Amino acid sequence: MTLFELNGRVAVITGGNAGIGLGIAKGLAAAGAAIVIAGRRPEKNLEAARAIESLNVSAAALELDVSKEESCRAMIESTVKRFGRIDILVNNAGTTIRKQPEAYTLAEWNRVIDTNLNGAFLCAQAGYPHMKHGGGGKIINIGSMLSIFGASFAAAYAASKGGIVQMSKALACAWAKDNIQVNAILPGWIDTPLTQSARKEVPGLNERVLARTPAGRWGEPQDLAGVAVFLASPASDFITGAAIPVDGGYSSQV
Ligand code: NDP
Repeated sequence: MTLFELNGRVAVITGGNAGIGLGIAKGLAAAGAAIVIAGRRPEKNLEAARAIESLNVSAAALELDVSKEESCRAMIESTVKRFGRIDILVNNAGTTIRKQPEAYTLAEWNRVIDTNLNGAFLCAQAGYPHMKHGGGGKIINIGSMLSIFGASFAAAYAASKGGIVQMSKALACAWAKDNIQVNAILPGWIDTPLTQSARKEVPGLNERVLARTPAGRWGEPQDLAGVAVFLASPASDFITGAAIPVDGGYSSQV
């Protein structure tokens, strides 16, 4: 196997039917991996799986609500039933509720934490025995600039994404003995349905992002594909517990 080749590998991408998840799914497919697109909306899952199949790899669409434990476990079991193994798990499904911290209900807080942090943990935990049995694996957790910075409108989101980084380090320490590498990607501001709504809800956001990002533009979902292929492939076998910004320089700028 060459450094960046994923032929024969099976990759699950949660929230793979749109935005960053779909960009990553296309990148892993182009490197040869079979792809499972897992999200709540069956028709979007199917549409994304069809687009992936046009890249000449196998693809499956599975229904998943990461905020529900049973759904996470069932999705991993369905993957193994269908493909016989799971080598790569991208914990990408995510959501946010934008409001000042004093205005959150506990239910709103929990919805963000359940989706962004607990769901990633549950999918990783469910995938672990299968990766171990297969001789190793790659878990890629999607953090955020809010893994390292704060924002007044994102207390729950920042807590969940900070947690993603620390959870990645802990899983990396625990599962290195099983040849499972666990890393996080911290995207900068990427143009997706999630941030299209942010641009409407947060006045001046577009201008602030453009002014602070040295690359001078919003990222595109495919900007995350290269780092995902790297972290999913043998090229990164000695990298674990890392959190890699992919942000056009945003986190390097004062
Ligand atoms: P989108 O809103 O475009 O896509 C979110 C994806 O997550 C959809 O596929 C959605 O599918 C899925 N999803 C949401 N909730 C659930 C759930 N409960 N169970 C299963 N799937 C779910 O967002 P982005 O592509 O922008 O974001 C993807 C990830 O990247 C998120 O974790 C986000 O926090 C992170 N991120 C995004 C940044 C950006 O600038 N866009 C910056 C930093 C991080 P469905 O609705 O069908 O379930």
